[in-house]
Amino acid sequence: MCNLEHCNLDRRLCNLDLCNLDQHLCNLDLCNLDQHLCNLDHCNLDRRLCNLDLCNLDQHRRLCNLDRRLCNLDRRLCNLDRRLCNLDRRLCNLDRRLCNLDRRLCNLDRRLCNLDQLCVQCSKADCGRWRQLSKESALTASLASSYRCGMKINSVKRVAGVTDSWWLSMLILPPLFKDSPANPFLSAYYPDCVGMSPSAGPGNQRQEHRRAAPPHVPGLSPYFQPFYQPNECGKALCVRPDMMELDELYEFPEFSRDPTMYLALRNLVLAAWNRDCKEVLTLQRCAPHVIVRGLVRIRCVQELERVLDFMTRKGLINTGVLQVKRPLLPESQHNKVLVIGAGAAGLAAGRQLQNFGMQVVVLEARERIGGRVWDDASLGITVGRGAQIVNGCVNNPIALMCEQLGLQMHRLGVRCELIQDGGLVTDPALDKRMDFHFNAVLDAVSEWRKDKPQSQDAPLGEKIQEVYKTFLQESGLHFTELEEKVLHFHLSNLEYACGSTLDQVSARSWDHNECFAQFSGDHTLLTDGYSSVLHNLAQGLDIRLNTAVQHVEYSGDAVKVTSACGSHWTAQKVLVTVPLALLQKNTFSFSPPLPERKLKAIHSLGAGAIEKVALQFPTRFWDSKVQRADYFGHVPASVEKRGLFSVFYDMRPQGEECVLMTVITGEALALVRDLQDLQVVDLCMSVLRELFQEQEVPDPVKFLVTHWSRDPWAQMSYSFVKTGGSGEVYDIMAEDVQGKLFFAGEATNRHFPQTVTGAYLSGVREASKIAAL
Ligand SMILES: Cc1cc2nc3c(=O)[nH]c(=O)nc-3n(C[C@H](O)[C@H](O)[C@H](O)COP(=O)(O)OP(=O)(O)OC[C@H]3O[C@@H](n4cnc5c(N)ncnc54)[C@H](O)[C@@H]3O)c2cc1C
Repeated sequence: MCNLEHCNLDRRLCNLDLCNLDQHLCNLDLCNLDQHLCNLDHCNLDRRLCNLDLCNLDQHRRLCNLDRRLCNLDRRLCNLDRRLCNLDRRLCNLDRRLCNLDRRLCNLDRRLCNLDQLCVQCSKADCGRWRQLSKESALTASLASSYRCGMKINSVKRVAGVTDSWWLSMLILPPLFKDSPANPFLSAYYPDCVGMSPSAGPGNQRQEHRRAAPPHVPGLSPYFQPFYQPNECGKALCVRPDMMELDELYEFPEFSRDPTMYLALRNLVLAAWNRDCKEVLTLQRCAPHVIVRGLVRIRCVQELERVLDFMTRKGLINTGVLQVKRPLLPESQHNKVLVIGAGAAGLAAGRQLQNFGMQVVVLEARERIGGRVWDDASLGITVGRGAQIVNGCVNNPIALMCEQLGLQMHRLGVRCELIQDGGLVTDPALDKRMDFHFNAVLDAVSEWRKDKPQSQDAPLGEKIQEVYKTFLQESGLHFTELEEKVLHFHLSNLEYACGSTLDQVSARSWDHNECFAQFSGDHTLLTDGYSSVLHNLAQGLDIRLNTAVQHVEYSGDAVKVTSACGSHWTAQKVLVTVPLALLQKNTFSFSPPLPERKLKAIHSLGAGAIEKVALQFPTRFWDSKVQRADYFGHVPASVEKRGLFSVFYDMRPQGEECVLMTVITGEALALVRDLQDLQVVDLCMSVLRELFQEQEVPDPVKFLVTHWSRDPWAQMSYSFVKTGGSGEVYDIMAEDVQGKLFFAGEATNRHFPQTVTGAYLSGVREASKIAAL
């Protein structure tokens, strides 16, 4: 109705004149219309709408509520869904972890199986496959060395993959070897998770029990003590069975965290070598002693080969006078090397390098080998014109070579009567007292030098005098003339040890090597001389005698060596072993010249001098006074003469031979420099006639006098540290130049200078260096 009216009205409005319309509307219609609308339509409409809407609104509200609840439900469903997803994911994770656990259990199971089994390698050269022994079989060294599998294929799956290095590296269970050759050496240790540990700590044993006794190993030389006993220290070439040495850590860093396997193998190898040093220690000889359950045995045998190679290269095993049929090191390390000098150092290096498989030529200036080892048989027995004594035999490589050759070492006793001019034997109490004072003076020098830099060094002789004077002033003591002379006997011995007058020797560093572990045990005299050892070292080496090297040219890739007679040799590496004095005097030249650092080192060491006199008599006239002691001392008549024949060695104290050997040292060398040999012997005889005044001392039947200081190829006895120098210089002497020139010899060995042992070990050291490059 409303719509209709309105439409009519509109229409009517449309039919009306627009101008009038306004009026009309105003006057009439509009008011009416309004009224009309108001009175009638609008209210009704509104009401109806209201009625109508209210209902709708209610519905609408209900709908809204429904809608909201639906939304909420929807949201909860979503949440549920999300939680379900999470649960699902966690279940998956759990499932994965279970799978992992399962896999680990399987692995454990497999490892347990591995632990239990005994593995053995077929000893047939063309087989070498690993097999698993049946449960009933026991693995022994003899079975391991002779086992033959007789199969053509790898039928055991589990051991087929043993060549895989990753797989092998997983085999890390600590191997505690059954019946290891090391066991008797290590009875004072027990195996634990860090290797072998001392069975008693330092705190829980009484002092006397702590003093280490060498273990008893049947048939072992008393001079072979490769392992420290618990609480022991300071022995040269001795290792702790429970610790890796520095160079071992460099070579086998993978064992640094858990050294157990390495130590077990190294101890086994070292023990096996000490038990039999006359044969090459090969993998085939060693591996059967690796007796351990589980697949770890396979890894142990593989590592054993590396350990053997390393120890061979270092000269810890398969060394000495061994002659080998096959090269000891793998082919990659083979090279050509020239060695200048066939003394102890050159021969040691030559032997080692040749045994490793290298091509070696030794060039020697003299018509003989040995250098400062030169034995003489003209007096009826062997007398060393140069070296003849071994100072400290335990683990000494000279003792090892004597064992290999079955050579005798005569142990030197400690008894040494001090005989005065006039023939009196010095009261042992006085002797002991002056020995004590002498050592106290040296202790005071040691105290003085503690905080002294190199620049404040002083001559040893001067320092000794200073300390001695202070001691006399402070103590108020006064020594008798005899006591003073006995003190000079000791000073003369110090000059013998240094090979020099004390005014040239460093007070700071005269005994620099004492801070390193030194060779301990007996001092011995080599009855057959050092030559028998060196001749065996030289066997099979290509040695060119009468070949004095004059020039070494090392600017190119290869080193060229020229001899005095114009012959040439070339090699990748050259080892120089000539005595220090010759390097100091430039007896041969280097091109380019040696580095400044090396030249400085060469000149800061001293080239010492001592000489020997040996006399053969018709009778052992000294026996009545010294009762077959190994030596007797001579109390010097004056300070200047203290170096003249201060000690006489009986070269065969237990035999019937009648040979005495004595030395000239220190300032006394100047007294004999221009004398004929016979005049030197006369001087010596006048001393002996003073000492044995009570009897007729016969003239010597034969004699020898040495002249090392004027020997063109030595010009010295042994090195010492000059005032202002230091022990470190020995290390610089040993440094190589450009990896082409190498240096060995007693004057390059900081730990063991002056001796044949030191020279020998320096040769072994350089051979190892050359082989490692
Ligand atoms: C009298 C005396 C007593 C000693 N007593 C002992 C002792 O009892 N115990 C001990 O351990 N030590 C002792 N020594 C020290 C010991 O002898 C030496 O330390 C050791 O022998 C040095 O050996 P080396 O290889 O370093 O040198 P060397 O033996 O001197 O060898 C160097 C070699 O180089 C050669 N040579 C030199 N120039 C040339 C050249 N241009 N071309 C080619 N070849 C050349 C020489 O001829 C020599 O053979 C003594 C030494 C002397 C002199």
